Amino acid sequence: MPGLQYRPLAPRRTTEGCGFDDGVQLLQVGVPIAGITAMSCPVAGALYRWIEEGLQPAAQRHFGQQVVRITSYGTYSCRSVNSRPGARLSEHSYANAVDIAAFELADGRTIGVETGWRAGGASTAFLKDVHRAACQTFQIVIGPDGDRFHQDHIHMDMGRGPYCR
Ligand SMILES: [Zn+2]
Repeated sequence: MPGLQYRPLAPRRTTEGCGFDDGVQLLQVGVPIAGITAMSCPVAGALYRWIEEGLQPAAQRHFGQQVVRITSYGTYSCRSVNSRPGARLSEHSYANAVDIAAFELADGRTIGVETGWRAGGASTAFLKDVHRAACQTFQIVIGPDGDRFHQDHIHMDMGRGPYCR
């Protein structure tokens, strides 16, 4: 895939059962993304396809310009689902997930999931399109309509799906 560049990471295992065998550090995915560390190969591939085929076309449609920066709330993190005690390990524990919180447009405007999802107008239409597109490339996608834990970001992972909410 031209435009997708990454560096393979050494396998990692923690005593809690977290870690990954196929982790990569993204070097280039078309748009700078703040807040990402290790992610699995399938997540890197899905992220790339989503940006190329879903995100940028949606930005063109709704705003007539490109997204120039993405803010993430993280990828690899050893924790349970929604950080609730006793819950099973999150896909983040295997670097198999990415949380996306906001998009900066070429004109400097920022479209955030928290404020934009229910704001109406172009922001809402754009974010819903972006969410729908994520469901085409990721296995599991959870946004603000999913549950109270996803009000300020869209969770996307390559675990066992499909689930799109
Ligand atoms: Zn998440």
